[in-house]
Amino acid sequence: MEERIKQLQQEAISALHQADDLIALQDVRVKILGKKGSLTEVMKGMRDLSAEERPAIGALVNAFKDQFESSFIARQLELQQRDIAAKLASEKIDVTLPGRKTASGSLHPVTLVTNEVVEIFSRLGFAVAEGPEIEEDFYNFEALNIPKDHPARDMQDTFYISDDRVLRTHTSPVQIRTMVKHKPPIRIIAPGTVYRRDSDLTHSPMFHQVEGFLVDKRVTFGDLKGVLTHFLNEFFGKGHNVRFRPSFFPFTEPSAEVDIECVICGGKGCRVCGKTGWLEILGCGMIDPEVFKSVDYDVDKYSGFAFGMGLERIAMLKYGVNDLRLFFDNDLRFLKQF
Ligand SMILES: [Zn+2]
Repeated sequence: MEERIKQLQQEAISALHQADDLIALQDVRVKILGKKGSLTEVMKGMRDLSAEERPAIGALVNAFKDQFESSFIARQLELQQRDIAAKLASEKIDVTLPGRKTASGSLHPVTLVTNEVVEIFSRLGFAVAEGPEIEEDFYNFEALNIPKDHPARDMQDTFYISDDRVLRTHTSPVQIRTMVKHKPPIRIIAPGTVYRRDSDLTHSPMFHQVEGFLVDKRVTFGDLKGVLTHFLNEFFGKGHNVRFRPSFFPFTEPSAEVDIECVICGGKGCRVCGKTGWLEILGCGMIDPEVFKSVDYDVDKYSGFAFGMGLERIAMLKYGVNDLRLFFDNDLRFLKQF
């Protein structure tokens, strides 16, 4: 019996060392200590031993059991550590690999153009003003010398919210709102979103305008020409001829439309300028005394000029874009080019 136990012990310990993974190790344990395990069988056999034999064999069995348990734990730890080391090696991060770039957005071309216009006029001392997009009839029409029966109301293709509320059709109401609050001298540039019932290749129901105006003593049409010519040369680059054509707006008198020598063909005539060599850029004029009256300015003391232009239009010319709708399609391939 003694021999048998010693042999079993040797086999068990060597089986533990040979187990190459945790499952195999567990199998060894079952084979020795399980219900039908070899050591369990030995212990069952002790019933048949004499009282003299029992203590010595019992001590032997207990020593076997203790050694097996401690060897089992040692081997288990060894295998676990081997597995962790293997896992760490396979999941190693190579910190020298280049990182993933964070995609960054860019400014919309209309925003870029707006910023540039504002910057040019800021250098001339103009301050930025804003007004609401839902506007009262008084500010959008009445105070700008466009009474209820005026035909210019048709030209504006207005979105009405109620009888006396509209989506503003131009940024000119900002003029009135500013003049109601402040006395001259004032120099304001007012970019913003405007709305008209119009939609085709060159018109969108929502678009952007910038309004500029200056009121002071002894302001002349010469000042207007000087400021706008300076602006156009800054914005489109020096060397473009500029011309002023007589025109009509209800809120300016006299009024003019301003053309710049075609920035695409240099004045030779092309598809963009309709073979004329000129591009219509903006409308302007001396503020009509009727407008001053509606904001209680002394018409004998003050004079001023105002101008307005479409920001999409100048963005199209500056960047050579031929369809206005591209600005609002939200196509990243288009927008990323600016
Ligand atoms: Zn041209």
